[in-house]
Amino acid sequence: LPDLADHSPTRSPAPVPLPEPQVKQLLAQAGIDVPRGAVAAASEDLAAAASGLCAPLVLKGFGPGIVHKSDVGAVRLDLNARDQLAPAAEKMRGELAAHGLEPAGFLVEEQAAPGVELIVGAVRDPSFGPVLLVGLGGIWTEALDDTSPRLCPVGRSDVEEALAELRGAALLDGARGRAPVGRAALIDLILAVGGPDGLVERLGDAWTELELNPVIAGPTGATAVDARLLLA
Ligand code: ADP
Ligand code: MG
Repeated sequence: LPDLADHSPTRSPAPVPLPEPQVKQLLAQAGIDVPRGAVAAASEDLAAAASGLCAPLVLKGFGPGIVHKSDVGAVRLDLNARDQLAPAAEKMRGELAAHGLEPAGFLVEEQAAPGVELIVGAVRDPSFGPVLLVGLGGIWTEALDDTSPRLCPVGRSDVEEALAELRGAALLDGARGRAPVGRAALIDLILAVGGPDGLVERLGDAWTELELNPVIAGPTGATAVDARLLLA
């Protein structure tokens, strides 16, 4: 028998992930700071593509099926010279192949200075519409379960409150002798996502899920070093 569910008019098509370099381009257009980067399909073209970038560099593979990049060997940090890019890409290609994956291309980008890692995301609630999520932890977000939701569009005081109510809020103030996070830059980034005329509003109905994870927040700036966008 044919699978009728596949032809049901109410079944919505699977959301389409946009490749990371394109998501980052959209972020940049919305005024969100992303690492300077370049793309190449072939590993031997990476060094030339990266000629305007400053080390340390990060190499990432992108393409169909490559979702949680760290899990499949598709992120390499701390590359200190451009001639390390091609061998790192070939090694990455091998690791991806072992997972049955093939990269459509490679993204090489500048490595942001260490800071506090946050998640800034948005989901679509069926009754309330777009909801912004901010949380601490980067890759540990799920384990820490420390996020604050706010309905979009958010204002500056909503963002300040959402950050203040995080259980780990003290990390932003410079715990254990670290420099405090520059609040203004972090809040501006979050407003550029979920505020009036932010990315969420600009995307209209074209998206289902947006996740910047992590945003690395330092004393003077906040940068989205990973970004995932599912189109509707
Ligand atoms: P994943 O798909 O596994 O989430 P990410 O792009 O988030 O891959 O990279 C994994 C981790 O590497 C990030 O959580 C962050 O700590 C670090 N990282 C990635 N890109 C950069 C960058 N450009 N600068 C600094 N750190 C980065
Ligand atoms: Mg990530």
